[in-house]
Amino acid sequence: MPLNSAKIITALGAIVGDKHLATADADKEKYLTDWRGVYRGEAIAVVKPATTDEVSRILKLAEAENIAIIPQGGNTGLCGGATPDTGARNVILSTENLNKIREIDRESQTITAEAGCVLDTIKTAVETHGLFFPLNLGARGSCQIGGNLATNAGGLNVVRYGNARALTLGIEAVLMGGATLPLLSKLKKDNMGYDLKHFFIGAEGTLGVITAATLQLFPKPLNLATAFVGLRDIDAGIALLQNCQRASNQSVTAFELIPKTIIDAVTEFYPDTPQFIANLPRFCALIEMTSTAENDALENALAQTLADAMAEGLISDATIASNASQRQALWQMRERVPEAEIKAGKAYKSDIALPLKHIAKFYDEAVAMAQAISPEARIFGFGHLGDNNLHFNLSEPRNSTTDFTRFYPEFDAMLMRLMEKYHGTMSAEHGIGQKKRSMLAESKAEAVPVMRAIKTALDPKNLMNPHKII
Ligand SMILES: Cc1cc2nc3c(=O)[nH]c(=O)nc-3n(C[C@H](O)[C@H](O)[C@H](O)COP(=O)(O)OP(=O)(O)OC[C@H]3O[C@@H](n4cnc5c(N)ncnc54)[C@H](O)[C@@H]3O)c2cc1C
Repeated sequence: MPLNSAKIITALGAIVGDKHLATADADKEKYLTDWRGVYRGEAIAVVKPATTDEVSRILKLAEAENIAIIPQGGNTGLCGGATPDTGARNVILSTENLNKIREIDRESQTITAEAGCVLDTIKTAVETHGLFFPLNLGARGSCQIGGNLATNAGGLNVVRYGNARALTLGIEAVLMGGATLPLLSKLKKDNMGYDLKHFFIGAEGTLGVITAATLQLFPKPLNLATAFVGLRDIDAGIALLQNCQRASNQSVTAFELIPKTIIDAVTEFYPDTPQFIANLPRFCALIEMTSTAENDALENALAQTLADAMAEGLISDATIASNASQRQALWQMRERVPEAEIKAGKAYKSDIALPLKHIAKFYDEAVAMAQAISPEARIFGFGHLGDNNLHFNLSEPRNSTTDFTRFYPEFDAMLMRLMEKYHGTMSAEHGIGQKKRSMLAESKAEAVPVMRAIKTALDPKNLMNPHKII
């Protein structure tokens, strides 16, 4: 069917109002490129519905007119999932106006929030009720809960609370064609048939638009113990993680592996970063335990565990934050990592996970293989050791004169080989988007036809975020 874009724009304007529709190049620009500036696409318009009913009417129109819909939340995704391709029939559906908190239920300890609520807004809103929403990522000031669910985001506190999927009790979603699936629920148990919410969580907008979600909350932690330690090696970090879990009754909420190379980069680009321990070894860790009990002896448990670890030779040095500002300084250093990577130049980024027992061997092999490909590449392999997830990133050499991106296919192949060898995954939390489609096809060859069958059943015309995932 030939495209009559003027007709589409008029019809979209009739649904949301012209001021919630961007059609001029300058107004569309920021929606057409991803956060890292790697992907760029085209769209007839950016439409910003404010209600589920408007989303439903947009998806009804899209099916009738064969318009591809690209859902977009905070546009902080790292795999190009929210960026359209260069097709002529694309409309970006931004959820930024779909941003009401519908209910905070203190008894059930749940929040029901619309997809466009910024993650930080949700975290702050529940805190005033003495509650806590544990999903926590560096992008929390911009990413939206719909995007978090659509990518099944992980982040800093998965070791204790699980990823976005584990925190979701129910969703409301709209299918291509306009049908609304009202699956909001506060129940922890509901075995009435297939649990359809799981199809939409992690589907990156390829099966429908998530318009709202009911999320599990927790009591707000009152006690925090935070430390920065120099590790003997990665295996010592894994032993320390287990010791910390034992000593704190499984209260570890973060265990971040940070190599010296990264701390050096953070200090280079942010010279005000304090030096937390004197001689940085090759690997360090940022550890946090939390408890909801007022007088919990968490800090003592952490101090004793670290003293024992020192005696055992697992760690070489440690600093325990003695107040809120020291704790904040430790986290600021960790959160500066992605920015320092950007300042260091072009970076090959990965998002792998593998069984803990293989991480040390993997790391050494990956370093050797990466340096065989690009001898001066800077190794920025850090991550959420507590949940087996490493961002084994490689930054271009200082004063590089060659185009570092030409090595990316070789880095991909190298990590694919190592993930196969160690039974890991190339996508632990960032998703597939445009970036990892061929990796998915190769590593899950038997599962992809089933995924395709589900996609075809829900979106037979392939109009929901086409050319993403499969
Ligand atoms: C500095 C920084 C740190 C980060 N740290 C982490 C981290 O620790 N852990 C982690 O997991 N990720 C991390 N990310 C990646 C990113 O923040 C997450 O993937 C986040 O969940 C994306 O949310 P968003 O609202 O920005 O989604 P977008 O980027 O807008 O979209 C992501 C995908 O979801 C789809 N989508 C968005 N909204 C909807 C909806 N309502 N319905 C259906 N589909 C939808 C899009 O089409 C796209 O495919 C980080 C990113 C940055 C920039």
